[in-house]
Formats: sequence, structure tokens, C-alpha cells
Amino acid sequence: MRILVQKFGGTSVADLDCMRQVEAKVRRGLAKGFKVVVVLSAMAGETNRLLSMANQWAKSPDPGEQDCLVATGEQISVALFASMLIDSGIKARSLLGFQAAIKTNEFFGRARILSIDSRKMIEMLEKYDVLAAAGFQGVSPDGRITTLGRGGSDTSAVALAAALKAEQCEIYTDVDGVYTTDPNICSMARKLDRIAYDEMLEMASMGAKVLQIRSVEFAKKFNVPVHVRSTFTDTPGTLVTKEDHRMEEVLVSGIAYDKDQCRFTLRDVVDRPGVAAKIFTPLAGAGVLVDMIIQNTSRDGVTDMTFTASRNDLEKTLAILEKIREHLGIKEILHDLHVCKVSVIGVGMRNHSGVASKAFTALHDENINILMISTSEIKITCLIEEKYTELAVRTLHDAFELEKNGFTG
Ligand code: ASP
Ligand code: MG
Repeated sequence: MRILVQKFGGTSVADLDCMRQVEAKVRRGLAKGFKVVVVLSAMAGETNRLLSMANQWAKSPDPGEQDCLVATGEQISVALFASMLIDSGIKARSLLGFQAAIKTNEFFGRARILSIDSRKMIEMLEKYDVLAAAGFQGVSPDGRITTLGRGGSDTSAVALAAALKAEQCEIYTDVDGVYTTDPNICSMARKLDRIAYDEMLEMASMGAKVLQIRSVEFAKKFNVPVHVRSTFTDTPGTLVTKEDHRMEEVLVSGIAYDKDQCRFTLRDVVDRPGVAAKIFTPLAGAGVLVDMIIQNTSRDGVTDMTFTASRNDLEKTLAILEKIREHLGIKEILHDLHVCKVSVIGVGMRNHSGVASKAFTALHDENINILMISTSEIKITCLIEEKYTELAVRTLHDAFELEKNGFTG
């Protein structure tokens, strides 16, 4: 049995006309001899509508009930879509998370998939040509409905593709693929034919919000190639896949940025063993996502510590820092919201030098000051003033010739 998984996001199922386009894509899969598992999101805006209702009905909505509520968005999509297909003579049925045996842990609102019993679905595929599976939802060990976090239908699709050993996993959306950078701020951005899982993880975590990050982690773990493409055109999109030689020849494949950053500086922290742990343990405990961290050289037994975290966590972070302030002898706590993180990404830079210096030179040529730097094997990140974001992205895109075939050194 040849199986194709196709996932469509909220804008692709927004109304009847959109769903007709989805039907056309499904028919194409059928014509090629595939059994098709179509994973659908809630209709555009529906999940937000349900969440805001939850918040009107209760001051702090019970997480289990909230999941039970928001999961209905996907239920509507699959029921409507399946009826449409049946109406036009296709053997189809809808499939909810629990019916597909998508077992998750019980972390409502951000549940993780533990297992999928593919046997049931294979049996159904003997009988039906199309299964319209609800994305975003699963079932907890004690049988309650769970959801996988915003954008979670991507992860449902990849997980189903892995469990069913599907030949292909296509994620249809309202953009036609993954770009070298955000086309909204850089007109020279180019659609990538292929991108490695690790590059996509870096791009996704930094504002290229095409795929839910967890779906990419899943795809990498189970080696599912994911084809990201547009519902509204027929052009091929971007294949997210494992690295190959061709990819490694390109040193830089993309530029990402993230404005959701706040920089904190702690002046005159006592410099003795355990201090960093005392600062970052309570932050981690409160769920603050700390990103870049720099500790300066110490003088006279004190040092400065600088780090960045998400802007949403500003209040929480300041409250925690105030609490530990006296104990650690911190003289001053500063924060700056007007910062942005810009990253140069590419698996090919693993085995090459010179990428960092080229990036720094390009920023210098535009007189952009770098506030913090961090690097990994496949990424160089600079924190800069937010007002220079667009200029920095364009400058780096240009310096690494990304409008052509990517920088090969
Ligand atoms: N409907 C959910 C959301 O809006 C899941 C998804 O669309 O992937 O986040
Ligand atoms: Mg999405």
C-alpha cells in the first residue's frame, strides 16, 4: 500500500472554495495510486476564537477542558472535508486523534506524542481511499483529549507519516516554501529547493514560522522528508530533509532574525562557584526561555552577567532577579527591549572558517554595532539594536550572496 500524507493549514481550509482546492490536491494523490491521509487544521481563526471563549468563560481555564474545547476546531474541518469528498464519490471518512490512537502524555496544551498505533489506520485504509485526520489532537493515557501546542498539526502530520511509513509527507500552507530569509523584509530572498533538518530547526526557532519546531524534530528523528509547499499554486516547494553533500558545499543557507528578545544585564554579581546556577535555576523553574548568556571576566571578585530571554517573560524575569539580588550582591539590574537577534545559518560552516568574520565585517560596513555574539556549529548569532534589523538582514543576505545559489566560500 502506497501512502501519502498531506497536511493543510487553517488558511487552506478557511471556506468551501479553499477546501475545493484541497480536494484537487488529494485527487492528484489518488490518481498517482496513493491512499491519502489528509491532516487538517482548524479553519483560519477558529482556534483563536475558541481560546478567547475559554478565557471569557473562566478566569483561568482548566487546561483539560480547554483542550477539549479547542480540539473541536479540527473536528469541524475533518467532518466537513470528509462529507465533501463522500459527496463527490470518494471513499473517505474522518478520523479524530483518539480514533487514530495518537497517544500523548497528559500535558494539556503542549502534549507530546508517545505512540501511534498504525495498525488501525492501515485497516481503515484497506476500506477507504482517504482518511481526513484531525491535526493538533491526541489522547492522554487516561483517555482525555489533549492538544500538541499551537501549530501542532504539522507535528501530527509528520508523526502520522512516520508511523504509517508514508512515501511522502507534504505540508501545504499559504507560502510556497522556505526562503533564504523573510521575503517581507528582503526582496532578494530566494526560495530554497532543499534545507537540512538542523538548518530548518534554526530557521524555525528564529521567526521563519513555516513549520512547528517540534514537527521538524520529529521529522529528523524518524527521517521523514517533508515537502513544504503552497495550496494555491502547483510549483514545487522546499524539501526539508537530511543533509547531503550538496548541502554541505553551501556554507550559508539562510539568515534568520528574532525580535522577541529582551536583554538583561546584572552588574557586579559576586564571582564564586554556584552563582550562575543560582541565577538560571529559578528562571528555568519558572519556564523562562533564556537564550544567549555572557559572563564577563571578573575584577575585584565581581563580574557582569548578560543574557537574553523572550519579551513575554520580562515581568517574570525581573521579579525573579529582584528576589535573588541581595543574596548575590547584584548592584544593578538593567534590561533593554529594543534588541533583535540576527543569525547566519548553514550546515556547511561546520568545516569552514571565515563565515563569522565575513558577517562581522558586513555589519561593520553598515555601522551596525554588535551587542552580543553566540555561535554553534551551524550558526552565528549577533544581537543588535532592533532598529537595524531590516538593514542587518539585507546586508548579511547580500554579503553571503544568498540571492544566488548560497555562499560557497
Ligand atoms: N489549530 C491549531 C492552531 O491554530 C493547530 C494548527 O493549526 O496547527 O495552532
Ligand atoms: Mg502552521
